[in-house]
Amino acid sequence: MRITVVGAGVVGLTCAVRLLEAGHDVAVLARDLPRETTSAVAAALWYPYRAFPQDRVTAWARSTYATFAELADDPATGVVMRPGTEVFGSPQPDPWWVSAVPSLTREGRLPPPYVDGWTFVAPVVEMPVYLEWLLARVEALGGSVTRMALAALPEGGDVVVNCSGIGSRLLAGDPAVTPVRGQVVLVEQFGLDRWWLDAAGPTYVVPRARDVVVGGTGEEGEWSRTPSAATAEEILARASRLVPALAGARVLRSAVGLRPARPSLRLERVGRTVHCYGHGGAGVTLSWGTADEVTSLVGAVPGSTTGG
Ligand SMILES: Cc1cc2nc3c(=O)[nH]c(=O)nc-3n(C[C@H](O)[C@H](O)[C@H](O)COP(=O)(O)OP(=O)(O)OC[C@H]3O[C@@H](n4cnc5c(N)ncnc54)[C@H](O)[C@@H]3O)c2cc1C
Repeated sequence: MRITVVGAGVVGLTCAVRLLEAGHDVAVLARDLPRETTSAVAAALWYPYRAFPQDRVTAWARSTYATFAELADDPATGVVMRPGTEVFGSPQPDPWWVSAVPSLTREGRLPPPYVDGWTFVAPVVEMPVYLEWLLARVEALGGSVTRMALAALPEGGDVVVNCSGIGSRLLAGDPAVTPVRGQVVLVEQFGLDRWWLDAAGPTYVVPRARDVVVGGTGEEGEWSRTPSAATAEEILARASRLVPALAGARVLRSAVGLRPARPSLRLERVGRTVHCYGHGGAGVTLSWGTADEVTSLVGAVPGSTTGG
């Protein structure tokens, strides 16, 4: 089938890869190319944050975890499996997504003010590297990515897959998808090899090859993509309480992205359109799981015996 994917963030590119692997012809159209998207700003720690509903999110997150664990064998992907710890200021039940990870260890002794927490190995995805890898994979499989700002979902082709994130306010006429602004600060690597997360804040410190992503904010309904210097200072102060070694790190720059939040992620087929948007703070975490479901909603290539 001839398929147009709208959007070249992590969701659109991952759908394009799976659709190409299933034997379809795929053209990706996007106003922003991969490195210019919200996806490029993501930390990007595997973690089911601000995405709903919980049962479907857990299943998508579980299968994405498994795919990233395989991709981590190839350094060219930018995916690394890293241990890390989430901390809490009050006692917690197990997380709702616990079945999505192979194991999770309770932390009995944490420095104050933290009283509870858990450690697990999670995929950490260096997005600038990974988005280039995804793009190269799309092209190697025979797909194309073209810059185009659309005022409506395109006509033509057999199926349109809408992965336009926050752009679905316009392209799907959907006011339920709203921005949750996130700012991060990039600092030079200072020898950190594990991640830390305090979802209250949210505050996180995520190591990559040459830098460390320090976050963050979750500002509902805020559209500004300009980093704030005062917010950067506040983030660094908060994160330094979580990881004291951060205090002396050299600051490189700040970045902002608008998470496409929705009360419930939209993944459904309506006529010849498959909508796949509203991944909130977990677009990377859910990307392979939702791409597999999009591929099954698109259906088999005519004449194929594999079921596509
Ligand atoms: C600071 C921050 C930290 C984050 N950390 C994490 C993390 O640790 N883990 C995690 O899983 N997630 C994280 N996220 C969330 C993650 O970044 C998003 O869920 C994800 O990027 C959404 O991907 P997407 O492909 O749906 O949207 P986007 O990356 O926004 O891509 C949308 C695409 O649609 C295109 N488009 C939109 N409108 C139009 C139009 N009219 N015409 C043509 N093209 C259009 C855009 O140009 C773009 O190419 C973070 C987000 C932020 C901001």
